[in-house]
Amino acid sequence: MNKLLLKKGREKSLKRRHPWIFSGAVEKAGGKPGETLLVCDVAGNPLALAAYSPDSQIRARVWSFDVSASIDKDFFQRRIEKSLKLREQLPASKHTNAMRLIHGESDGLPGLVVDRYADVLVAQFLSAGAERWRDAILDSLVQLTGCEAIFERSDAEVRVLEGLPPRTGFFRGNRNAARCPIVEYGLNFRVDVEQGQKTGFFLDQRENRQRVRALAEGREVLDAFSYTGGFSLAALAGGAKHVTAVESSAEALEVARENLAANPLDSSRIVFEKADVFSYQRLLRDRGRRFDLVVLDPPKFAPTAAQAKNAARAYKDINLMALKLLAPGGLLATFSCSGGVSAELFQSIVAGAAVDAGVDARIVERFGAAADHPVALNFPEGDYLKGLLVLRT
Ligand code: SAH
Repeated sequence: MNKLLLKKGREKSLKRRHPWIFSGAVEKAGGKPGETLLVCDVAGNPLALAAYSPDSQIRARVWSFDVSASIDKDFFQRRIEKSLKLREQLPASKHTNAMRLIHGESDGLPGLVVDRYADVLVAQFLSAGAERWRDAILDSLVQLTGCEAIFERSDAEVRVLEGLPPRTGFFRGNRNAARCPIVEYGLNFRVDVEQGQKTGFFLDQRENRQRVRALAEGREVLDAFSYTGGFSLAALAGGAKHVTAVESSAEALEVARENLAANPLDSSRIVFEKADVFSYQRLLRDRGRRFDLVVLDPPKFAPTAAQAKNAARAYKDINLMALKLLAPGGLLATFSCSGGVSAELFQSIVAGAAVDAGVDARIVERFGAAADHPVALNFPEGDYLKGLLVLRT
C-alpha cells in the first residue's frame, strides 16, 4: 500500500480524529487519485487509511482510523447500511419521503452526499476518494434502498478543486427528473433533481419550515430567498394571512408556483416576486410595508472563513432591512448556511443589525440543520447551518 507521510507534529488533528489532511501537513505522498493510502506520522507509526486527492488542498480524507480495516466494497456497504439505519430511526421519517441518506464526513463517507426524493436517489461524488468507489457505492445504494432510479449530480464547484470533471445524469433507471414529487409534513413539493439547486431541495431546513408553519397563524409573512416556496407554503399551511415570496431565480419560482398548485392552499393569499432581495427590501420599506414574520434564508455568502468579511456585510444588510420591516411583536427567522460564518459571528452580525435598525429585539429560539444532516463531533465543519428566531419587542 502506498503511504502518506506527515510532517513532524502534524498528526495532532488526526489524533482528534479529524478526517482531513491538508497539503501543508504532508511530507511525502504518492499514488493515483482516489487511491487508499496508509497515513503515517514522521516516525512511521500508522494512523489512518485515507483517500488520496493529489490535486486538492485537502490532500487526503480518512476512511478509517482502524489501520487494519479493508477499504473495499464491503466497507462501503456497511457504512451505507449504518447511515440508512440512522435515518429510518428519525421521527421525521414518518412525515416525509425525502431525506438526506448520506451526509459526507459526518457519516464517515467523506465526499459523498446522497439524498432521497421518494423513489429517486440523487448522489454527489465530491472527492477523488468517493469517485474512486463510485460503482461500488451506487451498487450498494440500489441494493439497500430498493430505489431503481439514481440521478447523479456531480456538478458541484468542489469537483473542480479535486480535479474531477462534472457529471450529471441517470446512473440507473429513469424518471421525470425535472419534477420529482415528494411529501413533507403533508405538503406536496416537486423537486427538480436535474436543474434545481444543490440536489434539488433544501432538506436541511425541513424542521425549521415546520417551525415557521407553527408560528405563521394570522401573520403577514415575507419569505426572502424563497427558492421553490418551502417556507412560503409552510406559512400558508399554518394559516398565514398573506405571504410575499421573493426569489431571483425564474426557474425556482416556476417550481414554486407548481408546488402551490399541488396543495389545497388559497392562492389568493400569496404573491411571488422575481426580484433581488437586497433592493426589494428597500422597495418594501419605501412603500411603508410591514410584516409580522420575516424569513431570511439566503444562499451561502461565505463558503470559507476567508470570505467572512464581505459575507458579514451582506448578512448585516438583509437583517437590518428585515428588522426595519418588522412590525412590533413581529418575528424574524434568520439563517446562515455559510461554513465560514460561525454561530457566534452570525449572532453578533444580527445584533449589530438590530442596533443600526434602532429596534429592540431578543433571541427566542435557535435553529440548526435537520437530524438527517448530523454533525460528527470530530468534524465541526459539518455544523454549517445556524438560525435565530428574533422577536422584535
Ligand atoms: N428557503 C428555501 C431555500 C433558499 S436557498 C427553501 O426552504 O427551500 C437560497 C435562494 O436564494 C436560492 O433559491 C437563490 O436562487 C436565491 N437567491 C440568491 N441570491 C438572491 C438575491 N440576491 N435575491 C433573491 N434571491 C436570491
